[in-house]
Amino acid sequence: MTKVLIVAGILLLLCIVVFKSQEKVNPKPSSPPTLPELRPVSIDRNKEVKELWESWKKDFDLVATKVHSKDLQAVRDLLFQADVSVPIDDDGEGGYYLLDQGKKKSPLTILAFSDNFLKKSTSWRFLKEGTFSFATAIYDSNQHTVVIAEPKNSRVTNAIILSHEGYHAYEQLILHKDIDTPEEKAYFLDEVRAHEFNYKVLAEYGGESYQVALQRMKKTVSSIIEIRNGKLPSSKHVNQERFKAVFNTEYEPLLDKVYGEPPQTTDEKNIRQQSLFADALLKNIDEQVPLKDQPYMKGFAMSTLFPNMKKRNN
Ligand SMILES: [Zn+2]
Repeated sequence: MTKVLIVAGILLLLCIVVFKSQEKVNPKPSSPPTLPELRPVSIDRNKEVKELWESWKKDFDLVATKVHSKDLQAVRDLLFQADVSVPIDDDGEGGYYLLDQGKKKSPLTILAFSDNFLKKSTSWRFLKEGTFSFATAIYDSNQHTVVIAEPKNSRVTNAIILSHEGYHAYEQLILHKDIDTPEEKAYFLDEVRAHEFNYKVLAEYGGESYQVALQRMKKTVSSIIEIRNGKLPSSKHVNQERFKAVFNTEYEPLLDKVYGEPPQTTDEKNIRQQSLFADALLKNIDEQVPLKDQPYMKGFAMSTLFPNMKKRNN
């Protein structure tokens, strides 16, 4: 009887997760997804998940060993010491266990889903099929969990994606920043900081090539989104056709040098190009907008560029 109640409880929680995760796809105000309680049990899926997590870590270190950033090292420490957990059954309806009968040791949990799993799971398939930038990983600030699927991009892009989610966790769990205040939510402040962190890491990793690409993009962005008197233009003063072409279609060739290889998919090509665009716009705001107005304006700019970018969901 108790067992039945537990299973029912887990199913109910999972329904909440499903409901919440669908909000990712349909932008509307959301509260955080809720993951079920974690329980320590050993299962066969351990090996698959271990290999999956190892592969993310290897990609992360490709960048982390070349970039001398204290923040990146701190993010690495947090991620690499996190407790890794795994869904129990094939559709994720039954809850999640820590690997190796582990006990919680870290403030952070990694929840890993292999492709095998995602093929069968309706609840989590969005991680595999998501069409927006960071769909292969999300950070849930309510459950202190980084949720990852199989990496599907080139190695440096994977490293950037993981460092992005890791940065959210680092701010909340290590720096004890309240990333859920109304102001943070309204202005996407934590997203802006996490993206700026990504761009800093990428700039150091990409060196000269990134600087050249960024300078070029800053000029292009200025010609499309011209900041006047410290203010962003209204949409009717933005050349929409040119904006769409640069943001969605064109591709800065130097990015292949920055990332060390061509993009694996069209999605990845877009991630790279749009990240460069966003970095250039944020830098233009840094240079042309009074300091006190920058946080609001950056949040506005990022949420306009990435309408799917929502609190906690990526
Ligand atoms: Zn984010």
